[in-house]
Amino acid sequence: MLMNMKDLLAVANEKGFAVPAFNIGSDQLLKAVMQQIKEMDSPVILEMSPDELKFVEESLIQGMIYEAARTPNPVVIHLDHGDTFDTVMRAIKAGFTSVMIDASTLPYEENIEITKKVCEVAHSVNVSVESELGTIGQTGNSIEGGTTGIIYTDPKEALDFVEKTGIDTLAVAIGTAHGIYPSDMKPELRLDILQTLKDTLDIPLVLHGGSSNKDEEIAKAVKIGISKINISSDIKVAFYTKCREVLTKHPEYREPLEIYPECIEACKEVIANKVNLFDSADKVKYYYE
Ligand SMILES: [Zn+2]
Repeated sequence: MLMNMKDLLAVANEKGFAVPAFNIGSDQLLKAVMQQIKEMDSPVILEMSPDELKFVEESLIQGMIYEAARTPNPVVIHLDHGDTFDTVMRAIKAGFTSVMIDASTLPYEENIEITKKVCEVAHSVNVSVESELGTIGQTGNSIEGGTTGIIYTDPKEALDFVEKTGIDTLAVAIGTAHGIYPSDMKPELRLDILQTLKDTLDIPLVLHGGSSNKDEEIAKAVKIGISKINISSDIKVAFYTKCREVLTKHPEYREPLEIYPECIEACKEVIANKVNLFDSADKVKYYYE
């Protein structure tokens, strides 16, 4: 069932779970995600950054729409970190049901202006809009970027921003970073800031860059009220670590149907862990009440 983010997260927000948002960079990753979320009766967000969208092209978006149409699981197709108005328009035309406009590095007033413009167009065609305030850190090994330091989301500014722009969801900066953290980087989530944000805002909140935060911290963030969590690096590391292993063990392999099944299985294990951690298993039923 294809739906937009506003409707998807309204249920998650009310019932107290988070929907996993997986970055789908190839058709093999799409296969792994869809198989696993169907097995676990979890709703899901299939997302892509502008670079991934350029790489997979529109045909894979059609594949996602097809997958969504033939499963009872709620599915949202989301543009992650839309950088410009044009990128967002391309995504809406391609069939995305949700877009992120990330103008968080622009001056505040300019961020409001472009986000408001995106909301006007997107909402007119029933597409949801996510935005970001504060900055999510970077580890230096992610294509999603980020800034070198983390600027925490200011709850007062966030309220003003939501009221002025009309966004449906907000990505908050509470101490996560994109990519896989180097061993000397010990991130800690500011759950106190998250609690204040939750008390201040009445739209669903999103966590980016949660690939290697401690599980118990992530679980707490879900309990406080995070409704969507982005996962990119973790599933790709699982897939390609297995891929290297398979190719080393079987240098004679050349067929995708020989190489990929084990990689998909390794990837599905990580997907299952995330679904359990975010408490989104067996939640499909809530969308049919
Ligand atoms: Zn992100």
